[in-house]
Amino acid sequence: MPKLLLLPGDGIGPEVCAEVRRVAAALTPDIEVTEAIYGGASYDAHGTPLTDEVLAMALSADAVLLGAVGGPQWANAPRALRPEAGLLKLRVEMGVFANLRPALCFDALADASSLKREVVAGLDIMIVRELTGGVYFGQPRGIETLPDGQKRGFDTQVYTTSEIERVARVAFELARGRRNHVTSAEKSNVMESGVLWREVVTELHARDYADVTLEHMLADNAAMQLVRRPTQFDVLVTDNLFGDILSDAASQATGSLGMLPSAALGIKGKPGLYEPIHGSAPDIAGKGVANPLAAILSFEMALRWSFGRGDIADRLFAAVTRALDGGARTGDLGGTMTTVAMGNAVLAELG
Ligand code: ATP
Ligand code: MG
Repeated sequence: MPKLLLLPGDGIGPEVCAEVRRVAAALTPDIEVTEAIYGGASYDAHGTPLTDEVLAMALSADAVLLGAVGGPQWANAPRALRPEAGLLKLRVEMGVFANLRPALCFDALADASSLKREVVAGLDIMIVRELTGGVYFGQPRGIETLPDGQKRGFDTQVYTTSEIERVARVAFELARGRRNHVTSAEKSNVMESGVLWREVVTELHARDYADVTLEHMLADNAAMQLVRRPTQFDVLVTDNLFGDILSDAASQATGSLGMLPSAALGIKGKPGLYEPIHGSAPDIAGKGVANPLAAILSFEMALRWSFGRGDIADRLFAAVTRALDGGARTGDLGGTMTTVAMGNAVLAELG
């Protein structure tokens, strides 16, 4: 039986994951769903955010779906044992190097007058961020004291050919199922790793993906273009640091944090890691008002990318779209629905 490991975590995580559970039970009763404790909850129970046992469960599942981790009550825990450290460890151990962050504006939310923020109608970008390399992990790094007493902090941006090629391959594959266009962003004008990035992407494109159009863009220009005319993008592939920034920027043009899923994929055949991009939202936790759609859409991505059930994923996506078209709105979308009511709205549309 295919296996989904659910790690609800902290704050609103358990509330939104309960809705994923209900959707999974209705839609894919043949997928075995198990649940384990993780994040701050695990720190409180076991003194660590990610136990070896839960890590082993994650590595042997077909997909792992996270709710959210962290909260103010763990802010003073030792750095290496903070809930967020458990998330980084999970990503590294699972080897999920390609972070897929869709920035999609549903038509029903395109009129944002009730949202008190600006959205971009028709926006549909898939950002592919390299997740396990680059300046966040490169060695050497540190803070040292110089002979004159000053301090010097330093990090290293490193990418190898294979690290670049495997994430670019994910981007080209995704583009083929979309609008067939890849934009690759780096800073090849000022960074050696950027020169290599552009070279590797260019070669891979010529070799295996000549049917997809490829555009190179300097990362600062990409930031500008995302604000100026965001609908020009289809798939945007970039490194860990630029991807962190560009994906957060793009997500804000979509409506609400409560709507945005993500996937992190490793090599084929290994489990993928799925999570809403929102945090644990301590301000609304326990109130039953969080929007569960980011978590439900993360499950939709799991169906597509880890379980090979694109057809069922399409059905779920259509149900979410119809629920929104029918006016289903939680507080973050300007409405008054509870978490459970939004789950019900999706279930009703699943038929
Ligand atoms: P983290 O550091 O964990 O990423 P954060 O400080 O970025 O957390 P979030 O926890 O994501 O913040 O919450 C930011 C704001 O968005 C909060 O006001 C929160 O209530 C709201 N929010 C986040 N997720 C949801 C959701 N699913 N439904 C409704 N509101 C949400
Ligand atoms: Mg955040």
